[in-house]
Amino acid sequence: MAPQVGTVTHAGTAVPAAADAALQPWLQALHDLVPMPEKYRRFEVDRAGALALLGCRDLVLDALVAAGIPHSGSGGAVRFDYNDLANVALYSGAVTSVPFAGQRMMIRYASAAPHTWTAPRSWDVEWRLSCRDEECPGGQWRIALPAPQVFGGRIDELHCDQESVTEGGVLTVTGSRAVRLTGRISTAGRHTPLRSAVARRLFDDTLAELLDGRYRFQWMHPLLRLDRAAVEEARIMDCTVCSLRMRRQALAEGLTVRTRRGRFLGVLDAEHSWLEVLDEDDVWKPVDPVIALLSIRHDRAQEGFVDFCAGSVPSRFLPWTVAAGEPLAEHRCPVGDGAWDNTFSGTAAKGNS
Ligand SMILES: [Zn+2]
Repeated sequence: MAPQVGTVTHAGTAVPAAADAALQPWLQALHDLVPMPEKYRRFEVDRAGALALLGCRDLVLDALVAAGIPHSGSGGAVRFDYNDLANVALYSGAVTSVPFAGQRMMIRYASAAPHTWTAPRSWDVEWRLSCRDEECPGGQWRIALPAPQVFGGRIDELHCDQESVTEGGVLTVTGSRAVRLTGRISTAGRHTPLRSAVARRLFDDTLAELLDGRYRFQWMHPLLRLDRAAVEEARIMDCTVCSLRMRRQALAEGLTVRTRRGRFLGVLDAEHSWLEVLDEDDVWKPVDPVIALLSIRHDRAQEGFVDFCAGSVPSRFLPWTVAAGEPLAEHRCPVGDGAWDNTFSGTAAKGNS
């Protein structure tokens, strides 16, 4: 439920009882937060940024600071860690917050009729990548292209604004700070439940761990995802951590598996990673307890949706041929350290159900 926050002032005086009730979900979310370990903590978000991300009034942020949300500085110089803020928002239940609202919108499709989960879809896509260094004079790009054909979809058209060469699913651009790709992509889904009892147990066990709190779903710094000891100590998972951990467990059980990166397309688009198992019928199938968890957390799971996440392919998956934790692109230039930013949008083209 969405708390009504910051609606309690009369002539500048807070009404304590109402304020307490509005603050409670935020303070509970902070209480349950696993803060970013110091090594991966970046105090970079200022007060205005925090208010925008949380979608809350000043009194909520003040209460979070008073209750000990990790931060540096004070007053106008206060800075917060982006992931700490996002994780408080995710568990606040506040539909005014960007992370919670986004996650809720992303998983909304789980409450629609099951045939829509796999219906063929067509998307107008735009992918922009740019060097993080503003002084970049231009450099070399190697960009892995989406691979919808993995699940029976296709790239209908793809155009690169910059001069480029494509070979083996990799696009190369030379002498550019930024790259822009536009086009149309068709995606396909399928209902293919897991046959392997071992794979299904792995899915059920991981979902149970996430639901009962042995592990907590949280966003995290990209480098923390790959620090196995640190995430095990913190007992947190995101989709990358989950797929890498399940991969190790599945290999120990003798299963044939791989991980994959992709995007989850919809009104709101999100990066995603998942495990795939080569099942007893020789079909590669996604095993995705994270999407199942989110559907349960947001109370959006139609009957059968959790089972759907154990083996089936939603037509909202846009796969890449890149493993979890591996980069989708590489950039080399004289001034930058290789870091780049990107935005991706996939808008439903006409004819989608
Ligand atoms: Zn550069």
